Amino acid sequence: MAARIARLLVLPLVLGLLFAGALIASGQIVLPPRWDPFAPFDLAEEPGFLTRFKFARARGDGDLCRAALARSGIAFERVPDRATGEGCGFTDAGRTATAGATRLSSPVVLTCRAALSLAMVERHALGAAARTHLGAPVTRVEHLGTYACRNINHAASGRRSRHATADAIDISGFQLADGRRLTLTADWSSAEPGRAAFLRAVRDAACRWFDVTLSPDYNPLHYDHFHLDVGGGRACR
Ligand SMILES: [Zn+2]
Repeated sequence: MAARIARLLVLPLVLGLLFAGALIASGQIVLPPRWDPFAPFDLAEEPGFLTRFKFARARGDGDLCRAALARSGIAFERVPDRATGEGCGFTDAGRTATAGATRLSSPVVLTCRAALSLAMVERHALGAAARTHLGAPVTRVEHLGTYACRNINHAASGRRSRHATADAIDISGFQLADGRRLTLTADWSSAEPGRAAFLRAVRDAACRWFDVTLSPDYNPLHYDHFHLDVGGGRACR
């Protein structure tokens, strides 16, 4: 009996959802952008239940990705696709001087999908973590590089690193507005209040928006940087 009633309810429910979906898609129901699966991805929106879906869609499409960066005023100057035939090269990459709205220590070439992940960490975690743990905003993100035609861990053989496709960035430190500077080398295990906690908060946020996040906890090779990448496997260490 219960199963029969459930079956009877399924059809109207499915039809209702389809109808509501059609009204939203045709613009007859206007939802706030963050609740609207068809609205363009806006990285400034407070992450909600649709964010993961819209973020993944923007990350998977160069045009949507560049539009999302542009919408947030992030300068991303497209560079021509490159292929070397040795497992190196990139598509949908650009030159940018910022991580989101915060200046990088030097401009980089990065794929749009990696730049978008970096912008999400900056927009939704970096400032809050700095305020909470250090009481001053971050004015500069220091890095050790992005694109490099090389294997994982600089090994002579083995798999290509995500750096070989400009899908990775190595972050080594942060400059604060009050003149303080944090580095992974000096501050990952710092006893000074807030420094280690800030770096862990950044690592945890990176795990949310990048596919792979490797910190000094991972292995001795990462004592001086966070390795952040997209498009390969998944790890948060
Ligand atoms: Zn790296």
